[in-house]
Amino acid sequence: PQRGELVLDVQKVRKQFGGLVAVNDVSFTLRAGDIMGLLGPNGAGKSTTFNLITGVLGLTSGQVVFRGQNVAGLSSREIARRGMSRTFQHVKMIPEMTVLENVALGGYLRSSAGVTRAMLRLDREEEKRLFAEAERQLARIGMALQMNELAGNLALGPQRLMEIARALCTDPALLLLDEPAAGLRLKEKQALADVLRQLKAEGLTILLVEHDMDFVMGLVDHITVMEFGTKLMSGTPAEVQASPEVRAAYLGT
Ligand code: ADP
Ligand code: MG
Repeated sequence: PQRGELVLDVQKVRKQFGGLVAVNDVSFTLRAGDIMGLLGPNGAGKSTTFNLITGVLGLTSGQVVFRGQNVAGLSSREIARRGMSRTFQHVKMIPEMTVLENVALGGYLRSSAGVTRAMLRLDREEEKRLFAEAERQLARIGMALQMNELAGNLALGPQRLMEIARALCTDPALLLLDEPAAGLRLKEKQALADVLRQLKAEGLTILLVEHDMDFVMGLVDHITVMEFGTKLMSGTPAEVQASPEVRAAYLGT
């Protein structure tokens, strides 16, 4: 997508779990080359919104327009194929495999049985291509030296970066990250923010779910704040920081 082009147009998306309205008619847009932070306290509906956008959950109502096409109702696999790539709130990996293997076989990492089957089925050419791309993406985010370590031996910060490398292997038009900074030490958060700034500079569009306000503030172009399933406000980091409603939602004051 060209910088400034509308990549994602979320229109009144809604998700009910029985009587609970987890996401209540939330709308926002995201333009190519921007980083948007989806912010809010625990239980606000951020992950559910994410799962609606990526097709992991079906919508109760609303539309998700991705690069001009409504993708609501499509499978997560089909949405991914159209250029959306994501990481999950909890790292998904096979600890006994190397970083490179985890990234290369990303698409098959549902279970180790799936990976074994995938490796048996892959032809040599396809395998070579997957590993070359994984190597390229790991180098891109500064992990060239850790490629051959066992994924399980990495600290949480590098594990999160590994997941980003995996998500980048499909050359996505939109990268979605669910709380990538959660549980990281300050140094790891800074390293992660540097990688995300670099990806933005390279033209990537990123939607970032976070509840860590400080992490988001220096990094994103726009913020959408959620509380109790609804959109509380949308604006620049400065506007959001100055908002009494947002302070109240976060600090309860
Ligand atoms: P956040 O990511 O902002 O912390 P979530 O989107 O995970 O919030 O959750 C929003 C609300 O929806 C919470 O009240 C949560 O308990 C509820 N919820 C999330 N997933 C489900 C589900 N599969 N079934 C029932 N309730 C759910
Ligand atoms: Mg969440």
